[in-house]
Amino acid sequence: MKIKKIHLKSDGYEFNPLRRRLLLFIGGGMLLWTADRAGLLGRSARAATGETNRKWEDQEGKVIKMTKSDQEWKKELGDKEYNVLREEGTERPFTSSLLDEHRDGVYVCAACGLPLFKSGSKYNSGTGWPSFYQAIEGHVETKTDYKLVLPRTEYHCARCGGHQGHVFEDGPDPTGLRYCNNGVALRFQEQKE
Ligand SMILES: [Zn+2]
Repeated sequence: MKIKKIHLKSDGYEFNPLRRRLLLFIGGGMLLWTADRAGLLGRSARAATGETNRKWEDQEGKVIKMTKSDQEWKKELGDKEYNVLREEGTERPFTSSLLDEHRDGVYVCAACGLPLFKSGSKYNSGTGWPSFYQAIEGHVETKTDYKLVLPRTEYHCARCGGHQGHVFEDGPDPTGLRYCNNGVALRFQEQKE
């Protein structure tokens, strides 16, 4: 009698399909959770090594777009910022405090924070607007602007579409380009090493 009882118990444990499925389900969940934790740790490790672009770009290196309504932008931006960034206005020359900015760092979009220029590519063009000979790859997009008689190449932030300035082909080496930027559309972030 006793032996039979133990045998039944064992049967019940081994061949209860519901219990088996439940265990598999929990086991699978634990595996996924562990994998996710490992992924998160991987991301923070990359950020620590300075690959900050991971924050802004998808897996193919393309800037992830963001959109906001005009009303939302109006709330977030000052009048001058809104006029330049959302209405393609131009600030008065020699008015930007960034003209005298010579520290090491990055210049980010004043609307969304996307890094657009590194301090190493900034130079004094004498025009009265902050000028750069190179943008961070893929972080600005261009379009042709016919506001003046001669067509100009307008460029804007690749993330939020905020207007930054115009790019001309009379810049210094090594690119020969001059990114003529409205200071009000940029924020400077010092790089402390
Ligand atoms: Zn932006």
